[in-house]
Amino acid sequence: MNAIEQMQQELQILEEHSNLRSLPALTHEGRYVEAHGRRMLNLSSNDYLGLAADRQLREEFLQGLTADSFLPTSSSSRLLTGNFSIYDELEQTLAGLFGTEAALVFNSGYHANTGILPAVSDAHTLILADKLVHASLIDGIRLSAARCIRYRHNDLKQLERLLTENHSAYRQVIIVTESLFSMDGDAADLKELVRLKQAYDNVLLYVDEAHAFGVRGERGLGYAEECGCIGEIDFLVGTFGKAAASAGAYIVCRRAIREYLVNRMRTFIFTTALPPVNIAWTLFIVRKLTGFQARRMHLERISSMLRNALTEKGYACPSTSHIVPMIAGASADAILKAEALQRHGFYALPVRPPTVPEGTSRIRFSLTADITEEEVEELIKHIG
Ligand code: PMP
Repeated sequence: MNAIEQMQQELQILEEHSNLRSLPALTHEGRYVEAHGRRMLNLSSNDYLGLAADRQLREEFLQGLTADSFLPTSSSSRLLTGNFSIYDELEQTLAGLFGTEAALVFNSGYHANTGILPAVSDAHTLILADKLVHASLIDGIRLSAARCIRYRHNDLKQLERLLTENHSAYRQVIIVTESLFSMDGDAADLKELVRLKQAYDNVLLYVDEAHAFGVRGERGLGYAEECGCIGEIDFLVGTFGKAAASAGAYIVCRRAIREYLVNRMRTFIFTTALPPVNIAWTLFIVRKLTGFQARRMHLERISSMLRNALTEKGYACPSTSHIVPMIAGASADAILKAEALQRHGFYALPVRPPTVPEGTSRIRFSLTADITEEEVEELIKHIG
């Protein structure tokens, strides 16, 4: 069998297991998407605050743009000629908001997570990672020289045991977790993680806030803000492609870590920096972030309505956030349930292995602040 035939055979197997993926053809219209000739409320986007669908925000931003300030490319890595001043402005704004010594901006969360761990780890590093961390973190771990042990999801007793048994054999140990988990919508116990790490002087903590930045905390800075432990997290990472309605990612950290990353992080050094106009839009949103408290409160209200309804209907619902999984089990069942909801005008999508563990295929409801209580009530009526 040649290489192409081998690929075709593997695709066939994916199809037989209902796990074949394809790019959906859809068009967007604010909160709605149109696919298969049907207009549906989008329940699958990461536009958690509804900012991407908010035309008025874009109009306001465009008013401040001119041909001189609309810079669609940086034409270079930041270390060469791509370091436009808007980058520094965004980083200073982030460091100011978080109250940290420094911040550094990356092209995406994927770049951040695949770049930071390889940069700061060596063969004398042990990484202890939650079993459910995002693929980008797994890839970062794979690219690093560190040894890695995965602990059971949110099992901090097991993590504590692993720390006790292993910390002295390594130069440093890095605990890696998400704050709100992308597929289950549950939260890590950040305060307890900080307590565990503080028991040792060679343990560092890495937290990915991709799904919490903008959404959680009084000022929308994330779950670490809500838990009151921003300053205790060594690598506090977040993305701009979700609630912040933009693209890119950040770390807020100590000055030394920022400087080290600028010198060692391959996914920062060897890539063309994001377009300055994109950074300007991110900055425009970040400056408004603290003011979106009403949207955050509404999002929590509709999320708890949906979580409670799923529990009442007998679904095990691990979520404590706006990411609400409806676990079907088999991929074929998840697909059928998603199709039924789509027929009723709700764009819900199945999430299948390898994104989630085998046997836990689900619909991942991803609620956004521009969805009304009435729409959630209507959705609940159609959940079987
Ligand atoms: N971290 C987590 C937890 C994510 O869910 C994602 C994207 N889904 C990323 C990182 C990657 O971020 P980006 O989309 O900006 O590459």
